[in-house]
Amino acid sequence: MGTYEFLLEAQLARTSKGALFMFCPFCNKKDSRVLESRLTGENSVRRRRECEVCGKRFTTYERVEVMQMLIVKRSGSREPYTREKLEAGVRRACAKTMVTAEQIDDLVDSVENELASAGKKEVPSTLLGELALKRLRSLDEVAYVRFASVYRQFRSIEDFVSELNTLKDTHALLSGRDTVSSITQDD
Ligand SMILES: [Zn+2]
Repeated sequence: MGTYEFLLEAQLARTSKGALFMFCPFCNKKDSRVLESRLTGENSVRRRRECEVCGKRFTTYERVEVMQMLIVKRSGSREPYTREKLEAGVRRACAKTMVTAEQIDDLVDSVENELASAGKKEVPSTLLGELALKRLRSLDEVAYVRFASVYRQFRSIEDFVSELNTLKDTHALLSGRDTVSSITQDD
């Protein structure tokens, strides 16, 4: 299996739901796993991928169109979207949890794909935060609450406790288990 390099544009396809897929150049199936990501320029990233169907590896150079978005902050001021900023926020929330660097990378990819498919030129910072939160919630509860406390601007301990209780209620509904209480006990 030799190194196979090609440009992203030729291999990208959009589903009806707008999700982006990377097609394997060998077997043309869409499921590939990212082995390694590296920034190669301001707007591009080099990824080593492994096809989950045929197992062959290939390299992609991806340029993300979402980079041209403007983020509208609460104050109303605008700033260009940067992946680094979102990634740093998620990484901070995930400190000392079981969340891996690859999961963080996938989370940011997923948020960018959703925004890119929505095709918006301006995105409120609150929406950006909620999109990341939605994904963090299924990854790690501690990271979720930490991130929520920053993005939803918790003003008091009551806000924090109320978020924990919401999380706890959801769990009770979903599984009948009470796993969230460990957060409050440990801290
Ligand atoms: Zn393949």
